[in-house]
Amino acid sequence: MRRFSIKKRVTLWYTGMIAVVLAVVFAGVFIFINQLELSKTEEDLQGSVADFADEFEFQNGTYYLSSDVDYYDDGVMFCIYDQDGRLLHGSMPVEFPKNLKLRSHEVRNVKQGGKQWMVYDAAYQYGTGKAIWIRGIASIHSMEQTMRMVMLAFAAVYPLLILMIGVIGYIMTKKALKPVDEICTTAEEISSGADLSKRLLVPKTEDEMHQLTCTFNEMFDRLEASFEDEKQFTSDVSHELRTPVSVIIAECEYALEEDSISEEQKQEIRIVLRQAKKMSELISQLLMIARCERGKETFQFEAVDMSMLVETTLEELSGKAEEKKIHLLSEIEPGLMAAGDQMLLTRMLINLVENSINYGKRNGIVKVSLFREDGKIRGIVKDDGQGIKSEHLDKIWNRFYRADRSRNTQNQERGTGLGLSMVRWIVRIHEGQIWVKSREGEGSEFIFELKEM
Ligand code: ADP
Repeated sequence: MRRFSIKKRVTLWYTGMIAVVLAVVFAGVFIFINQLELSKTEEDLQGSVADFADEFEFQNGTYYLSSDVDYYDDGVMFCIYDQDGRLLHGSMPVEFPKNLKLRSHEVRNVKQGGKQWMVYDAAYQYGTGKAIWIRGIASIHSMEQTMRMVMLAFAAVYPLLILMIGVIGYIMTKKALKPVDEICTTAEEISSGADLSKRLLVPKTEDEMHQLTCTFNEMFDRLEASFEDEKQFTSDVSHELRTPVSVIIAECEYALEEDSISEEQKQEIRIVLRQAKKMSELISQLLMIARCERGKETFQFEAVDMSMLVETTLEELSGKAEEKKIHLLSEIEPGLMAAGDQMLLTRMLINLVENSINYGKRNGIVKVSLFREDGKIRGIVKDDGQGIKSEHLDKIWNRFYRADRSRNTQNQERGTGLGLSMVRWIVRIHEGQIWVKSREGEGSEFIFELKEM
């Protein structure tokens, strides 16, 4: 599942919270106003019925009501019933249920035909056993309708409001987190090793971002210092070892020419010589890596014909492929020029093709392709050999890393574990890219891309 960015998560949380709070507040206010209106109408209705009852005069067991009495007053209609519930005078809305039973001193809500009323009945005794009923009817339909309109308006505005809050929130969060994005981009550049001397821009504000940036910069200072120390150490040690190893090689070669030494002793010397040569190769590779790490400035970049370079490298390595009965195939687009250091680029190609031969299968195929793709030079070195286990794939670029050491004693003897780390450095220095596709038992494919001149 793709994870949401902090910006999106913060916006979602905060918009969600506001949406809930807004809905709850509106519902609360709506219910409160509705209740308030209803209880006010209820009170008014009771008051109106009581006022209407004041119009009556009860005397000697009968009642009098002036003939010009109004049966409609301030939104309330009045009806008069006798004690048996027969309508005597008054007016009522057309849709109002005519036979609604009288109930003393109780306010009721009545619905019919999509309309709604509040009804209040009050009985007044006059004379023995005689009573008249007064019914007050107030329409609450318009109030209900107004409330419904308010609710509909809110329902229509609500999503827009939430969307607006979300968008504003996202813009604000993005703005607030912009320094973090910048920190990430620069930190990525630094950690990818492109430029260890680069530092984050410290914001002027004395806030958390300022502190975070300073902490990062301090960490990069320490990182750079320790890298420098390591590079210096590797370079110094390699330089110091170069002379004694050369002396050992020269002495061994000299000793092998001596007739006074027995064949058995010569065999021992040959072993020492082989190991000393391996050590010498290791030292020169370490020195080259140390130089690569010092950066582009230590090399001379010029126009390099990559197509030619691949051709000559393959020719050089054809003997080696022959030894293993490997078919060395090529598909090279001519005239592909790159700006680079010829010696380094040759080293890169040799390392890749040699690996394909070393780890390729006997009687197998190694194919090298070079072509133009999206304005870049793309090279593919492909073999059908032992392949690389997926868990080793990202580690093979590390110095001295050798996948599955126990598998091939011949290669174990030969390799130094430095070849691919050097290849990666060379590609980086040329501002290119390299990656590998491999499946155990099926073979490997190393793909590099370089800028075309
Ligand atoms: P080495 O000197 O051991 O060849 P490299 O740095 O060139 O060192 O390679 C590192 C490891 O990556 C090798 O030990 C090997 O396990 C693996 N590797 C490199 N190229 C190939 C390939 N073409 N096929 C299979 N494994 C490979």
